[in-house]
Amino acid sequence: MTTDPLARISGPVVIIGLGSIGRGTLPLVDRHIEFDRSRCTVIDPNPLDERARRIIDTYGVSYVQEAITESNYRSVLTGLLTEGEGQGFCINLSVDTSSLEIMRLCRELGVLYIDTVVEPWEGFYYDTGTDNELRTNQALRSTVLAERRASPGGTTAVSCCGANPGMVSWFVKAALVQLVADLGLGLTEPAPGDRAGWARYMQAAGVKGVHIAERDTQRAANPKPIGVFWNTWSVDGFISEGLQPAELGWGTHERWTPANARRFADADSPAIFLEQPGANTRVRTWCPSEGPQYGFLVTHNESLSIADFFTARADDGTVEFRPTCHYAYHPCNDAVLSFHEFFGCGCRMPRDQWVLDETEIVDGRDELGVLLYGHERNAYWYGSQLTIEEARALVPDNNATGLQVTSAVLAGIVWAIEHPEVGIVETDDMDHRRCLEVQVPYLGNVAGFYTDWTPLTDRPGLFPEDIDPDDPWQFRNVLVH
Ligand code: NAD
Repeated sequence: MTTDPLARISGPVVIIGLGSIGRGTLPLVDRHIEFDRSRCTVIDPNPLDERARRIIDTYGVSYVQEAITESNYRSVLTGLLTEGEGQGFCINLSVDTSSLEIMRLCRELGVLYIDTVVEPWEGFYYDTGTDNELRTNQALRSTVLAERRASPGGTTAVSCCGANPGMVSWFVKAALVQLVADLGLGLTEPAPGDRAGWARYMQAAGVKGVHIAERDTQRAANPKPIGVFWNTWSVDGFISEGLQPAELGWGTHERWTPANARRFADADSPAIFLEQPGANTRVRTWCPSEGPQYGFLVTHNESLSIADFFTARADDGTVEFRPTCHYAYHPCNDAVLSFHEFFGCGCRMPRDQWVLDETEIVDGRDELGVLLYGHERNAYWYGSQLTIEEARALVPDNNATGLQVTSAVLAGIVWAIEHPEVGIVETDDMDHRRCLEVQVPYLGNVAGFYTDWTPLTDRPGLFPEDIDPDDPWQFRNVLVH
């Protein structure tokens, strides 16, 4: 424990899920948060392997081997979260548990809450009997927003506070402030939660859209065997979201829609979705180290929340400006190959899966940032370039991908403790300066880069292509048809 904590949890701590993110979060919480280890419980259905046992023993916390389910979550969590004095904190880092219901319970109990994704109970992602609209992140996010409307204020619950969703919402604001300064617009930075102010600020900067542009170059020492799925974070999580429909915040500058695009029944949704899986949908994007690249348009909460947050409306509510926003993810090469094999064999579940930890990765980095495009300077990437060597040196039990997530969880925990009565928040609602102040020491090089690359750059011209030559930043040019 640090002698100079960033914050203090006065009551019990419950961490749900001891996967790659849970394991990486514990050392950061232990280092920066003052709490009573003897009142900290980790819950996960897996028996402890050697590594997990070492982590539990190192931090002197308790372990409950149990799956949190729809029928037991109240009975299992209530006692653990309310025992003894002080205000508890629930850190949900699991798959297959309902973020909404656990968040609701925590708020009923006056317990602070954080998660990194709006996770549903088991079964949601693979339900072939339902319309694809109901398997989107719009469907998931709208449940949390409805809860916020029905129950405003009260105990703080931070929704979707990982790297992305999460940290990238803070990056968008930091990047935008820099862009506005570089353009010499002389505009005053809006207050953190001033949605209308930020939307007009982005509109004035001439931004048409935002890619969450990520390149993970972490490599394992040995080649991946055929038929197994390797990734640098949750394989369950990646397959689940990769099989959701591709989904993106839909900007006001777009003048073409893909033939299989669908709008949502909820007219207030800032997004559209495509009738195809996100991990089998490729887009063109750009990251600083490797330059132009293909990324997967996997649906993520931030594609919606950022598009929503930066929507500027007229007095009568008409939308006047909204950026396009989507993920453009080049995962580690082993994960690209894993998905290629997965889709190729009819989405048969892999015979084995593995999350590469920091001891198995020989080199590489996770370059994760936001690409603000369509303005006078063309495009500006701002984000974290974190190498595996840096991650290993900074915190135990984290690879580069994991540390970008776990350090965002830490920042969210600190912010929640500093703002314990603001109700349900998304990371867009939070003070990006304070959160990044906590997180940046763990992000390697954090920097901005302008580029003159556009989705129309260097097309070989060998085949006819369905492009819009008049505006490089149309989604029509970004999507790989
Ligand atoms: P993981 O697959 O490595 O671990 C998930 C853990 O949850 C496993 O240990 C599993 O046993 C446990 N679990 C499964 N069912 C459970 C249940 N019913 N009750 C309690 N625990 C259960 O995943 P991870 O990489 O640690 O990711 C954890 C979560 O964080 C996932 O939901 C993932 O999508 C999310 N995530 C978010 C971001 C982000 O940037 N926002 C990044 C990475 C992961």
